[in-house]
Amino acid sequence: MDAPLHFRTATEVSALLARREVSSVEITRAVIERTRAVEDRVRAFTARDEQRALAQAAASDARRAADRTLGPLDGVPVSVKDVLASEGEPLTCSSRMLANFVSPYDATAIARLKAAGAVLWGRLNMDEFAMGSSTENSAFHTTANPWDLDRIPGGSSGGSAAALAAGESIVTLGSDTGGSIRQPAALCGVSGLKPTYGRVSRYGLVAFASSLDQVGPLGRCVDDLGLLLGAISGHDERDSTSVRVPVPDFNVEAAARLAQHRERPLRIGLPKEYFGEGLDPEIRAAIEHAIAFYRAQGCDVREVSLPHTQYAIATYYIIATAEASSNLARYDGIRYGHRSTNISDAIDIYAQSRAEGFGAEVKRRIILGTYVLSSGYYDAYYLRAQKVRTLIRRDFLQAFEQVDALLTPTSPIPAFRKGEKSADPLAMYLADIFTISTNLAGLPGLSIPCGFTAGGLPIGLQLLGRPFEESTLLALAKSYEQSHDWHLRRPSL
Ligand code: GLN
Repeated sequence: MDAPLHFRTATEVSALLARREVSSVEITRAVIERTRAVEDRVRAFTARDEQRALAQAAASDARRAADRTLGPLDGVPVSVKDVLASEGEPLTCSSRMLANFVSPYDATAIARLKAAGAVLWGRLNMDEFAMGSSTENSAFHTTANPWDLDRIPGGSSGGSAAALAAGESIVTLGSDTGGSIRQPAALCGVSGLKPTYGRVSRYGLVAFASSLDQVGPLGRCVDDLGLLLGAISGHDERDSTSVRVPVPDFNVEAAARLAQHRERPLRIGLPKEYFGEGLDPEIRAAIEHAIAFYRAQGCDVREVSLPHTQYAIATYYIIATAEASSNLARYDGIRYGHRSTNISDAIDIYAQSRAEGFGAEVKRRIILGTYVLSSGYYDAYYLRAQKVRTLIRRDFLQAFEQVDALLTPTSPIPAFRKGEKSADPLAMYLADIFTISTNLAGLPGLSIPCGFTAGGLPIGLQLLGRPFEESTLLALAKSYEQSHDWHLRRPSL
């Protein structure tokens, strides 16, 4: 039986549109109806504009009817994390600081989605300024995990993952600074990809930690990741860290990789540091099944070592907070966003506006970041962290001399209960233990569903690759997906 329209993938929707079996307006309506039906329980969105989305859908249908040139996502509804600027739409980063801010321009990723013909459907909830692993740091509301509404969807792109799992969107964009695409994808039973640093322009992505942030896709199948990644990738002169490398058709390239590797099997590394204590036994068992699958496919699976793994969380929380403290200095009550009315002099504008506008986690990070950059501590913390970062990257590059990809769990634990970790920031920081090093090393990584706990919570499998080898990861992910149906399961909502 065919899935209802709101649960179709972008790849399927594109095919249906191309065969004129449905219109973009019909698809968009289906997603809107579904959102109306479940959103009071899921709360994945920060803002929605049904009329705006339907107008874009009608424009796509008109292009198709007139046989005009169509983009690769023409007529497909895409929802985006509320951290990417889209002209005329709210851009809040789930912060009181930007609660009333409307973006005057398009992020490059958004401009490319629009050029590809996508229908923009809604703004997705997140941890404030992308800081967190549960979406509980949103200043507005918490998003529920569609598989268990008492649990968190992961974060910081929790809205992007929950909306997909709940059928409120066809594909979504998130951002990943230390795991924020992969971890919520894993916890919600969908797929998500963090591109190589520099693959996707950061222009118009509200900055958290500029040397780590990347925009990337989430979807209900692996092909959707390749499709969306192709649409948003490529050099951009407005982002000096975006790289001039060719943008392939990722799905075509992934298929070619798979064909090649029937002759020469891919080599997969299991970093031994990722399989130690603290890994949930059900997750371990699911990952071992996946390993057995790849072995049965003829892959050469072997243990490798990333010896500096134990320093990753500390290194990340020095570098990310240092960059955040600098990036968030722009919210001063004058240039952007919230301005306190409780002021008696000019200095109060800064202090009061920031005191009122930022939440506790954001303040904690600004304080920590300011501290590690302060004179006297800079050498001991920030500079030292940069050196360790180089060692972490080197570990990966050495591992990639022996293997083509690394396979790990995405998260050490399945979705936890709301409130369970919000009082303990350090416990929350451990949620990203398997994803954070990838960002420090600038590498691509993806997460796909690979099972469920006995209690019905999704489990994610992470694959990491060499710089700009997203296609190898997509190939491996696709071969797994073709033989399993985890990605086809839907929560009962
Ligand atoms: N959870 C990590 C943090 O809080 C990563 C967040 C992210 O990738 N944006 O910083």
